[in-house]
Amino acid sequence: MSYDAIWADQRINKNEKSKLKEDGLDVFKDLPELIKHPFSEVDKSYYMYFKYAGLTVQKPQEQGNFMFRIKIPGGRINLKQADLIAWIAETYGHGFVDLTTRQAVQYHWIPFVKLPELFDQLNEVGLTTAGAEGDITRNVVDNPLSGIDPNELFDTRETVLQVYERFQGNRDYSNLPRKFKISINSNIYNAGNAEINDLALIPATKAIDGQTVQGFNVKIGGGLGMVPYLGLSTNIFVTPDQVADLAEVVVQLYRDNGPRRSRAKARLKFLIQDWGINKFEAAIREQLPDLETAGHSEVRGWSNGGSALGIHEQAQKGYYYVGVSVPTGRINAEDFKAFIDIARQYGRDEIRFDHEQNLIIPWISAADLETVKANEIFTRFNTKPETLLDLATTCTGAEYCNLANSHTKEIFEPILNALDARFTFEKPVAITLTGCGNNCAHRSIADIGIEGVHARTADGDKVEGYQFSVGGSLLDGGHFNENLKGKVVADQIVDATASLLQDYQDNLQNGESFYEY
Ligand code: SF4
Repeated sequence: MSYDAIWADQRINKNEKSKLKEDGLDVFKDLPELIKHPFSEVDKSYYMYFKYAGLTVQKPQEQGNFMFRIKIPGGRINLKQADLIAWIAETYGHGFVDLTTRQAVQYHWIPFVKLPELFDQLNEVGLTTAGAEGDITRNVVDNPLSGIDPNELFDTRETVLQVYERFQGNRDYSNLPRKFKISINSNIYNAGNAEINDLALIPATKAIDGQTVQGFNVKIGGGLGMVPYLGLSTNIFVTPDQVADLAEVVVQLYRDNGPRRSRAKARLKFLIQDWGINKFEAAIREQLPDLETAGHSEVRGWSNGGSALGIHEQAQKGYYYVGVSVPTGRINAEDFKAFIDIARQYGRDEIRFDHEQNLIIPWISAADLETVKANEIFTRFNTKPETLLDLATTCTGAEYCNLANSHTKEIFEPILNALDARFTFEKPVAITLTGCGNNCAHRSIADIGIEGVHARTADGDKVEGYQFSVGGSLLDGGHFNENLKGKVVADQIVDATASLLQDYQDNLQNGESFYEY
Protein backbone atom coordinates (compact mmCIF):
# COMPACT_ATOMS: atom_id res chain seq x y z
CA MET A 1 0.00 0.00 0.00
CA SER A 2 1.42 3.40 -0.96
CA TYR A 3 1.02 6.51 1.18
CA ASP A 4 -1.55 7.72 -1.40
CA ALA A 5 -3.57 4.56 -0.79
CA ILE A 6 -3.27 5.05 2.97
CA TRP A 7 -4.48 8.64 2.62
CA ALA A 8 -7.42 7.52 0.50
CA ASP A 9 -8.53 5.07 3.18
CA GLN A 10 -10.94 7.10 5.27
CA ARG A 11 -10.95 4.49 8.00
CA ILE A 12 -7.32 5.07 9.06
CA ASN A 13 -6.93 6.39 12.60
CA LYS A 14 -6.34 10.05 13.40
CA ASN A 15 -2.61 9.59 14.05
CA GLU A 16 -2.27 8.20 10.53
CA LYS A 17 -3.99 11.25 9.07
CA SER A 18 -1.62 13.54 11.01
CA LYS A 19 1.44 11.57 9.94
CA LEU A 20 0.53 12.07 6.28
CA LYS A 21 0.51 15.84 6.77
CA GLU A 22 3.98 16.05 8.33
CA ASP A 23 6.80 13.56 8.77
CA GLY A 24 7.39 12.77 12.44
CA LEU A 25 11.11 13.56 12.15
CA ASP A 26 10.22 17.15 11.22
CA VAL A 27 9.85 17.73 14.95
CA PHE A 28 13.56 18.58 15.03
CA LYS A 29 13.02 21.24 12.36
CA ASP A 30 9.93 22.63 14.15
CA LEU A 31 11.41 22.87 17.65
CA PRO A 32 13.51 26.07 17.39
CA GLU A 33 10.36 27.97 16.37
CA LEU A 34 8.09 26.20 18.87
CA ILE A 35 10.24 27.07 21.88
CA LYS A 36 9.94 30.78 21.14
CA HIS A 37 6.39 30.54 22.50
CA PRO A 38 5.02 29.28 25.84
CA PHE A 39 4.43 25.53 25.85
CA SER A 40 0.74 26.11 26.51
CA GLU A 41 0.47 27.40 22.93
CA VAL A 42 1.48 24.02 21.49
CA ASP A 43 -1.67 22.35 20.25
CA LYS A 44 -2.25 18.94 21.84
CA SER A 45 -2.59 17.40 18.39
CA TYR A 46 1.15 18.13 17.97
CA TYR A 47 2.15 16.02 20.99
CA MET A 48 2.42 12.85 18.88
CA TYR A 49 5.25 14.40 16.85
CA PHE A 50 7.35 14.86 20.02
CA LYS A 51 7.48 11.07 20.20
CA TYR A 52 9.71 10.97 17.13
CA ALA A 53 12.26 12.95 19.11
CA GLY A 54 12.09 10.42 21.96
CA LEU A 55 9.86 12.74 24.00
CA THR A 56 6.61 12.25 25.86
CA VAL A 57 4.82 15.23 27.34
CA GLN A 58 4.79 14.56 31.06
CA LYS A 59 1.97 15.10 33.54
CA PRO A 60 0.86 17.78 34.37
CA GLN A 61 1.00 18.46 30.67
CA GLU A 62 0.61 22.25 30.82
CA GLN A 63 4.02 22.58 32.56
CA GLY A 64 5.96 21.61 29.43
CA ASN A 65 8.25 18.93 30.86
CA PHE A 66 9.22 15.78 29.04
CA MET A 67 10.15 12.18 29.46
CA PHE A 68 13.29 12.17 27.33
CA ARG A 69 14.71 8.91 25.96
CA ILE A 70 18.12 8.44 24.36
CA LYS A 71 18.57 5.68 21.79
CA ILE A 72 21.64 3.53 22.47
CA PRO A 73 22.12 0.78 19.85
CA GLY A 74 23.17 -2.41 21.63
CA GLY A 75 23.33 -0.52 24.95
CA ARG A 76 26.98 0.49 24.52
CA ILE A 77 28.28 3.99 25.29
CA ASN A 78 31.74 5.50 25.49
CA LEU A 79 32.72 7.53 28.54
CA LYS A 80 32.26 10.92 26.89
CA GLN A 81 28.67 9.85 26.22
CA ALA A 82 28.38 8.53 29.78
CA ASP A 83 29.60 11.89 31.14
CA LEU A 84 26.86 13.69 29.20
CA ILE A 85 24.21 11.22 30.39
CA ALA A 86 25.25 11.93 34.00
CA TRP A 87 25.36 15.69 33.40
CA ILE A 88 21.83 15.75 31.95
CA ALA A 89 20.58 13.76 34.95
CA GLU A 90 22.04 16.18 37.48
CA THR A 91 21.29 19.37 35.53
CA TYR A 92 17.78 18.76 34.21
CA GLY A 93 16.67 15.26 35.22
CA HIS A 94 16.10 15.83 38.95
CA GLY A 95 19.35 13.99 39.66
CA PHE A 96 18.66 10.54 38.25
CA VAL A 97 18.45 8.51 35.07
CA ASP A 98 16.34 5.41 34.38
CA LEU A 99 17.74 2.40 32.52
CA THR A 100 15.20 0.75 30.21
CA THR A 101 14.56 -2.85 29.19
CA ARG A 102 15.76 -2.01 25.66
CA GLN A 103 19.27 -0.94 26.67
CA ALA A 104 18.41 2.77 26.46
CA VAL A 105 18.24 5.52 29.10
CA GLN A 106 15.50 8.00 29.92
CA TYR A 107 14.86 11.05 32.06
CA HIS A 108 11.86 12.88 33.44
CA TRP A 109 11.30 16.62 33.92
CA ILE A 110 13.34 17.77 30.92
CA PRO A 111 12.15 21.34 30.20
CA PHE A 112 10.73 22.23 26.78
CA VAL A 113 12.98 25.26 26.22
CA LYS A 114 16.14 23.23 26.79
CA LEU A 115 15.41 20.61 24.12
CA PRO A 116 17.29 22.08 21.12
CA GLU A 117 20.35 22.72 23.30
CA LEU A 118 20.31 19.15 24.62
CA PHE A 119 19.88 17.72 21.12
CA ASP A 120 23.00 19.65 20.04
CA GLN A 121 24.97 18.31 23.00
CA LEU A 122 23.89 14.75 22.27
CA ASN A 123 24.78 15.19 18.64
CA GLU A 124 28.29 16.32 19.56
CA VAL A 125 28.99 13.02 21.33
CA GLY A 126 27.23 10.83 18.76
CA LEU A 127 23.97 10.17 20.62
CA THR A 128 20.40 10.89 19.61
CA THR A 129 16.82 10.69 20.81
CA ALA A 130 15.48 10.45 17.23
CA GLY A 131 13.28 7.40 16.91
CA ALA A 132 13.49 6.46 20.59
CA GLU A 133 9.69 6.64 20.48
CA GLY A 134 7.15 7.05 17.68
CA ASP A 135 5.97 4.88 14.79
CA ILE A 136 9.46 4.06 13.61
CA THR A 137 12.25 1.51 14.14
CA ARG A 138 13.19 1.73 17.83
CA ASN A 139 16.48 1.08 19.60
CA VAL A 140 18.14 -2.02 18.08
CA VAL A 141 18.96 -4.38 20.93
CA ASP A 142 21.90 -6.75 21.08
CA ASN A 143 23.56 -9.24 23.36
CA PRO A 144 24.80 -6.89 26.11
CA LEU A 145 28.10 -8.78 26.11
CA SER A 146 28.68 -8.85 22.37
CA GLY A 147 32.38 -8.94 21.53
CA ILE A 148 33.41 -10.04 25.02
CA ASP A 149 31.04 -12.95 25.57
CA PRO A 150 32.36 -16.51 25.99
CA ASN A 151 28.85 -17.74 25.14
CA GLU A 152 28.34 -16.03 21.80
CA LEU A 153 28.89 -17.50 18.34
CA PHE A 154 30.40 -14.30 16.99
CA ASP A 155 30.59 -10.55 17.61
CA THR A 156 27.32 -8.84 16.59
CA ARG A 157 28.29 -5.22 17.27
CA GLU A 158 29.01 -4.30 13.65
CA THR A 159 25.74 -5.87 12.46
CA VAL A 160 23.79 -3.87 15.05
CA LEU A 161 25.41 -0.65 13.82
CA GLN A 162 24.70 -1.49 10.17
CA VAL A 163 21.00 -2.01 10.96
CA TYR A 164 20.85 1.13 13.11
CA GLU A 165 22.45 3.20 10.32
CA ARG A 166 20.13 1.74 7.68
CA PHE A 167 17.09 3.16 9.46
CA GLN A 168 18.31 6.08 11.54
CA GLY A 169 16.91 9.33 10.15
CA ASN A 170 15.71 7.44 7.05
CA ARG A 171 12.43 9.03 6.01
CA ASP A 172 11.51 6.03 3.87
CA TYR A 173 10.76 4.30 7.18
CA SER A 174 9.63 7.10 9.48
CA ASN A 175 5.91 6.48 8.98
CA LEU A 176 5.24 2.91 10.09
CA PRO A 177 1.84 1.80 11.40
CA ARG A 178 3.36 1.56 14.91
CA LYS A 179 6.76 1.00 16.50
CA PHE A 180 9.09 -1.69 15.17
CA LYS A 181 11.56 -3.51 17.42
CA ILE A 182 14.66 -5.38 16.23
CA SER A 183 16.83 -7.76 18.24
CA ILE A 184 20.20 -9.09 17.04
CA ASN A 185 22.04 -11.61 19.18
CA SER A 186 24.43 -14.53 18.84
CA ASN A 187 24.57 -15.51 22.54
CA ILE A 188 23.39 -19.11 22.82
CA TYR A 189 21.18 -18.33 25.85
CA ASN A 190 18.82 -15.93 24.07
CA ALA A 191 20.40 -12.74 25.42
CA GLY A 192 18.43 -10.71 22.85
CA ASN A 193 14.98 -11.76 24.18
CA ALA A 194 14.23 -12.81 20.60
CA GLU A 195 10.57 -13.79 20.88
CA ILE A 196 9.30 -10.41 22.09
CA ASN A 197 10.63 -8.46 19.10
CA ASP A 198 9.06 -7.72 15.72
CA LEU A 199 12.20 -9.03 14.04
CA ALA A 200 14.75 -11.19 15.82
CA LEU A 201 18.02 -12.66 14.63
CA ILE A 202 19.04 -15.73 16.62
CA PRO A 203 22.32 -17.64 16.45
CA ALA A 204 22.51 -20.48 13.90
CA THR A 205 24.95 -22.37 11.71
CA LYS A 206 24.43 -23.64 8.17
CA ALA A 207 26.43 -25.94 5.92
CA ILE A 208 26.94 -24.03 2.68
CA ASP A 209 29.24 -25.35 -0.08
CA GLY A 210 30.83 -27.78 2.33
CA GLN A 211 31.60 -25.04 4.89
CA THR A 212 29.90 -24.40 8.23
CA VAL A 213 28.75 -20.80 8.08
CA GLN A 214 27.79 -18.84 11.19
CA GLY A 215 24.80 -16.54 11.01
CA PHE A 216 21.24 -16.22 12.15
CA ASN A 217 17.87 -17.88 11.89
CA VAL A 218 15.02 -15.41 11.80
CA LYS A 219 11.93 -14.95 13.98
CA ILE A 220 9.18 -12.49 13.12
CA GLY A 221 6.06 -11.03 14.66
CA GLY A 222 6.75 -11.05 18.39
CA GLY A 223 5.76 -8.24 20.71
CA LEU A 224 4.34 -7.62 24.17
CA GLY A 225 1.87 -4.80 24.83
CA MET A 226 -1.76 -5.42 25.71
CA VAL A 227 -2.01 -8.44 23.40
CA PRO A 228 1.32 -10.26 23.51
CA TYR A 229 2.54 -12.61 20.79
CA LEU A 230 5.70 -14.67 20.61
CA GLY A 231 7.82 -14.30 17.48
CA LEU A 232 7.38 -17.14 14.98
CA SER A 233 10.24 -19.00 13.29
CA THR A 234 10.70 -18.45 9.58
CA ASN A 235 12.61 -20.86 7.35
CA ILE A 236 15.28 -18.23 6.68
CA PHE A 237 19.01 -18.17 7.44
CA VAL A 238 21.08 -15.02 6.93
CA THR A 239 24.74 -14.23 7.29
CA PRO A 240 25.66 -11.09 9.26
CA ASP A 241 26.22 -9.08 6.07
CA GLN A 242 22.67 -9.89 4.87
CA VAL A 243 20.95 -8.71 8.06
CA ALA A 244 20.48 -5.02 7.14
CA ASP A 245 18.93 -5.93 3.77
CA LEU A 246 16.62 -8.45 5.41
CA ALA A 247 15.58 -5.92 8.07
CA GLU A 248 14.85 -3.33 5.39
CA VAL A 249 12.61 -5.72 3.43
CA VAL A 250 10.71 -6.76 6.57
CA VAL A 251 10.18 -3.14 7.64
CA GLN A 252 9.13 -2.20 4.08
CA LEU A 253 6.54 -5.00 4.01
CA TYR A 254 5.23 -3.85 7.36
CA ARG A 255 5.13 -0.20 6.27
CA ASP A 256 3.19 -1.01 3.12
CA ASN A 257 0.86 -3.71 4.44
CA GLY A 258 0.57 -3.19 8.18
CA PRO A 259 -2.90 -2.38 9.54
CA ARG A 260 -3.48 1.35 10.12
CA ARG A 261 -7.11 1.54 11.19
CA SER A 262 -6.82 0.76 14.89
CA ARG A 263 -3.59 1.66 16.72
CA ALA A 264 -4.31 -1.18 19.12
CA LYS A 265 -3.97 -3.62 16.23
CA ALA A 266 -1.27 -1.96 14.16
CA ARG A 267 1.88 -3.88 15.20
CA LEU A 268 3.53 -6.36 12.84
CA LYS A 269 2.26 -9.24 15.00
CA PHE A 270 -1.29 -8.57 13.79
CA LEU A 271 -0.23 -8.58 10.13
CA ILE A 272 1.55 -11.90 10.71
CA GLN A 273 -1.56 -13.32 12.37
CA ASP A 274 -3.58 -12.15 9.39
CA TRP A 275 -1.25 -13.31 6.60
CA GLY A 276 0.34 -16.30 8.30
CA ILE A 277 4.10 -16.69 8.54
CA ASN A 278 4.39 -18.55 5.21
CA LYS A 279 2.82 -15.75 3.17
CA PHE A 280 5.04 -13.18 4.91
CA GLU A 281 8.14 -15.26 4.26
CA ALA A 282 7.18 -15.68 0.60
CA ALA A 283 6.89 -11.89 0.33
CA ILE A 284 10.40 -11.54 1.79
CA ARG A 285 11.78 -14.11 -0.65
CA GLU A 286 10.23 -12.29 -3.61
CA GLN A 287 12.62 -9.45 -2.87
CA LEU A 288 15.53 -11.50 -1.55
CA PRO A 289 15.35 -14.73 -3.60
CA ASP A 290 18.85 -15.94 -2.68
CA LEU A 291 18.20 -16.34 1.05
CA GLU A 292 19.14 -19.74 2.44
CA THR A 293 16.67 -21.91 4.31
CA ALA A 294 16.97 -21.97 8.12
CA GLY A 295 20.16 -23.39 9.60
CA HIS A 296 20.80 -25.32 12.79
CA SER A 297 19.70 -23.21 15.76
CA GLU A 298 22.51 -22.72 18.28
CA VAL A 299 20.14 -21.52 21.02
CA ARG A 300 20.54 -23.68 24.17
CA GLY A 301 17.98 -24.66 26.79
CA TRP A 302 18.26 -21.65 29.02
CA SER A 303 17.14 -18.07 28.55
CA ASN A 304 19.17 -15.48 30.43
CA GLY A 305 16.75 -12.65 29.68
CA GLY A 306 19.54 -10.43 28.40
CA SER A 307 20.83 -10.03 31.93
CA ALA A 308 24.56 -9.78 32.58
CA LEU A 309 24.90 -9.57 36.35
CA GLY A 310 28.00 -10.68 38.18
CA ILE A 311 31.77 -10.58 37.72
CA HIS A 312 32.82 -13.00 35.00
CA GLU A 313 35.79 -13.60 32.78
CA GLN A 314 35.34 -12.33 29.25
CA ALA A 315 36.05 -14.25 26.07
CA GLN A 316 39.41 -12.46 26.32
CA LYS A 317 41.39 -14.36 28.94
CA GLY A 318 42.55 -12.26 31.87
CA TYR A 319 39.79 -9.65 31.49
CA TYR A 320 36.52 -9.44 33.39
CA TYR A 321 33.22 -7.67 33.03
CA VAL A 322 31.39 -6.38 36.09
CA GLY A 323 27.60 -6.58 35.79
CA VAL A 324 26.09 -4.27 38.40
CA SER A 325 22.55 -4.59 39.72
CA VAL A 326 20.73 -1.25 39.57
CA PRO A 327 17.64 -1.65 41.79
CA THR A 328 14.46 -0.80 39.83
CA GLY A 329 16.70 0.52 37.04
CA ARG A 330 16.97 3.99 38.55
CA ILE A 331 20.42 5.41 39.32
CA ASN A 332 21.35 8.82 40.63
CA ALA A 333 23.91 10.93 38.85
CA GLU A 334 26.52 10.70 41.63
CA ASP A 335 26.48 6.89 41.64
CA PHE A 336 26.53 6.76 37.87
CA LYS A 337 29.58 9.03 37.88
CA ALA A 338 31.29 6.69 40.34
CA PHE A 339 30.88 3.84 37.84
CA ILE A 340 32.16 6.08 35.05
CA ASP A 341 35.26 6.78 37.18
CA ILE A 342 35.88 3.05 37.63
CA ALA A 343 35.48 2.46 33.89
CA ARG A 344 37.81 5.37 33.16
CA GLN A 345 40.49 4.23 35.58
CA TYR A 346 40.34 0.48 35.09
CA GLY A 347 38.25 -0.28 31.97
CA ARG A 348 38.42 0.73 28.32
CA ASP A 349 36.30 3.78 27.60
CA GLU A 350 33.07 1.80 27.74
CA ILE A 351 29.93 1.21 29.81
CA ARG A 352 27.08 -1.04 28.71
CA PHE A 353 23.44 -1.58 29.63
CA ASP A 354 21.70 -4.95 29.67
CA HIS A 355 18.02 -5.80 29.08
CA GLU A 356 17.23 -5.98 32.79
CA GLN A 357 17.95 -2.35 33.72
CA ASN A 358 21.50 -3.00 34.94
CA LEU A 359 24.89 -1.68 33.88
CA ILE A 360 28.12 -3.39 32.89
CA ILE A 361 31.73 -2.24 33.15
CA PRO A 362 33.83 -4.37 30.78
CA TRP A 363 37.58 -4.84 30.39
CA ILE A 364 38.72 -4.97 34.00
CA SER A 365 42.05 -6.79 34.07
CA ALA A 366 42.64 -9.64 36.51
CA ALA A 367 45.33 -7.51 38.14
CA ASP A 368 42.83 -4.71 38.92
CA LEU A 369 39.85 -6.84 39.84
CA GLU A 370 40.31 -6.90 43.63
CA THR A 371 40.91 -3.14 43.73
CA VAL A 372 37.73 -2.53 41.74
CA LYS A 373 35.71 -4.89 43.95
CA ALA A 374 36.93 -3.01 47.03
CA ASN A 375 35.48 0.28 45.78
CA GLU A 376 32.95 1.77 48.21
CA ILE A 377 30.25 1.78 45.54
CA PHE A 378 30.06 -2.02 45.71
CA THR A 379 28.94 -1.86 49.32
CA ARG A 380 25.76 -0.28 47.97
CA PHE A 381 25.41 -1.99 44.58
CA ASN A 382 25.40 -5.76 44.26
CA THR A 383 27.30 -7.57 41.52
CA LYS A 384 25.86 -11.02 42.26
CA PRO A 385 22.50 -12.01 40.83
CA GLU A 386 21.46 -13.28 44.23
CA THR A 387 18.41 -11.44 45.39
CA LEU A 388 14.91 -10.85 44.13
CA LEU A 389 15.77 -7.14 44.03
CA ASP A 390 18.71 -7.78 41.67
CA LEU A 391 16.63 -9.82 39.27
CA ALA A 392 13.53 -7.65 39.21
CA THR A 393 12.49 -5.14 36.55
CA THR A 394 9.90 -2.41 36.62
CA CYS A 395 8.56 0.36 34.42
CA THR A 396 8.00 4.07 35.00
CA GLY A 397 4.47 3.73 36.40
CA ALA A 398 2.10 6.38 37.69
CA GLU A 399 4.84 8.64 39.05
CA TYR A 400 5.53 9.93 35.52
CA CYS A 401 3.77 7.80 32.91
CA ASN A 402 0.54 9.15 31.43
CA LEU A 403 -0.81 5.67 30.73
CA ALA A 404 -0.22 4.09 34.14
CA ASN A 405 -2.96 2.67 36.34
CA SER A 406 -0.69 2.28 39.37
CA HIS A 407 2.63 3.26 40.93
CA THR A 408 5.70 1.09 40.39
CA LYS A 409 9.31 2.20 40.98
CA GLU A 410 8.76 4.02 44.28
CA ILE A 411 6.98 1.05 45.88
CA PHE A 412 8.95 -1.83 44.37
CA GLU A 413 12.29 -1.64 46.18
CA PRO A 414 10.80 -1.89 49.71
CA ILE A 415 8.58 -4.74 48.54
CA LEU A 416 11.56 -6.66 47.16
CA ASN A 417 13.66 -5.95 50.24
CA ALA A 418 10.89 -7.38 52.43
CA LEU A 419 10.73 -10.51 50.28
CA ASP A 420 14.53 -10.87 50.21
CA ALA A 421 14.51 -10.86 54.01
CA ARG A 422 12.28 -13.95 53.91
CA PHE A 423 13.45 -15.97 50.90
CA THR A 424 16.62 -17.24 49.29
CA PHE A 425 16.49 -19.34 46.15
CA GLU A 426 19.11 -21.34 44.30
CA LYS A 427 17.61 -20.63 40.90
CA PRO A 428 16.81 -17.05 39.93
CA VAL A 429 13.20 -15.91 40.33
CA ALA A 430 12.33 -12.83 38.25
CA ILE A 431 9.54 -10.57 39.47
CA THR A 432 8.32 -7.75 37.27
CA LEU A 433 6.03 -4.84 38.13
CA THR A 434 4.37 -2.78 35.39
CA GLY A 435 2.03 0.14 35.83
CA CYS A 436 -0.43 -0.98 33.14
CA GLY A 437 -1.02 -3.64 30.52
CA ASN A 438 1.43 -2.12 28.04
CA ASN A 439 4.05 -4.49 29.37
CA CYS A 440 7.03 -2.10 29.09
CA ALA A 441 8.95 -4.00 31.79
CA HIS A 442 8.11 -7.35 30.16
CA ARG A 443 5.52 -8.50 32.68
CA SER A 444 4.32 -11.37 30.44
CA ILE A 445 7.64 -13.24 30.46
CA ALA A 446 8.46 -12.91 34.17
CA ASP A 447 8.27 -15.76 36.68
CA ILE A 448 5.91 -13.53 38.64
CA GLY A 449 4.36 -10.62 36.76
CA ILE A 450 2.49 -7.88 38.64
CA GLU A 451 0.45 -5.44 36.60
CA GLY A 452 -1.17 -2.19 37.71
CA VAL A 453 -4.93 -2.25 37.19
CA HIS A 454 -7.97 -0.22 38.24
CA ALA A 455 -9.59 -1.56 41.39
CA ARG A 456 -12.29 -0.59 43.87
CA THR A 457 -12.50 -0.90 47.63
CA ALA A 458 -15.38 -2.73 49.31
CA ASP A 459 -17.01 0.72 49.58
CA GLY A 460 -16.73 1.22 45.84
CA ASP A 461 -13.93 3.82 45.94
CA LYS A 462 -11.42 3.75 43.06
CA VAL A 463 -7.91 2.64 44.09
CA GLU A 464 -4.72 1.55 42.40
CA GLY A 465 -4.79 -2.22 42.13
CA TYR A 466 -2.40 -4.95 41.08
CA GLN A 467 -3.00 -8.26 39.34
CA PHE A 468 -0.66 -11.27 39.37
CA SER A 469 0.46 -13.65 36.61
CA VAL A 470 2.84 -16.59 37.03
CA GLY A 471 5.05 -18.85 34.93
CA GLY A 472 6.45 -16.69 32.11
CA SER A 473 9.68 -17.56 30.32
CA LEU A 474 11.41 -17.28 26.95
CA LEU A 475 12.79 -20.79 27.32
CA ASP A 476 12.24 -23.07 24.30
CA GLY A 477 10.50 -20.46 22.18
CA GLY A 478 8.68 -18.81 25.07
CA HIS A 479 5.61 -19.08 27.21
CA PHE A 480 3.62 -16.16 28.58
CA ASN A 481 2.66 -16.19 32.23
CA GLU A 482 -0.92 -16.89 33.19
CA ASN A 483 -3.21 -14.53 35.06
CA LEU A 484 -4.28 -15.37 38.58
CA LYS A 485 -7.74 -14.37 39.72
CA GLY A 486 -8.25 -11.36 41.95
CA LYS A 487 -6.58 -8.02 42.61
CA VAL A 488 -4.63 -6.60 45.52
CA VAL A 489 -3.69 -3.08 46.62
CA ALA A 490 -0.09 -1.93 47.12
CA ASP A 491 -0.01 -2.83 50.84
CA GLN A 492 -0.92 -6.42 50.00
CA ILE A 493 1.75 -7.04 47.33
CA VAL A 494 4.37 -8.37 49.78
CA ASP A 495 2.03 -10.95 51.31
CA ALA A 496 0.54 -11.98 47.97
CA THR A 497 3.98 -12.45 46.40
CA ALA A 498 5.28 -14.21 49.51
CA SER A 499 2.49 -16.78 49.34
CA LEU A 500 3.49 -17.64 45.74
CA LEU A 501 7.17 -17.87 46.69
CA GLN A 502 6.42 -19.92 49.81
CA ASP A 503 4.44 -22.39 47.72
CA TYR A 504 7.39 -22.73 45.32
CA GLN A 505 9.90 -23.09 48.16
CA ASP A 506 7.82 -25.74 49.94
CA ASN A 507 7.10 -27.83 46.88
CA LEU A 508 9.98 -27.52 44.46
CA GLN A 509 11.67 -30.81 43.62
CA ASN A 510 15.14 -31.56 42.29
CA GLY A 511 16.08 -27.89 42.14
CA GLU A 512 13.49 -27.01 39.49
CA SER A 513 13.15 -23.35 38.54
CA PHE A 514 10.03 -21.33 39.29
CA TYR A 515 9.02 -21.70 35.63
CA GLU A 516 9.52 -25.48 35.67
CA TYR A 517 7.63 -25.73 38.95
FE1 SF4 B 1 3.71 3.39 31.36
FE2 SF4 B 1 2.26 1.19 31.22
FE3 SF4 B 1 4.63 1.28 29.98
FE4 SF4 B 1 4.55 1.19 32.62
S1 SF4 B 1 3.82 -0.43 31.23
S2 SF4 B 1 5.80 2.61 31.39
S3 SF4 B 1 2.72 2.37 33.09
S4 SF4 B 1 2.82 2.50 29.49
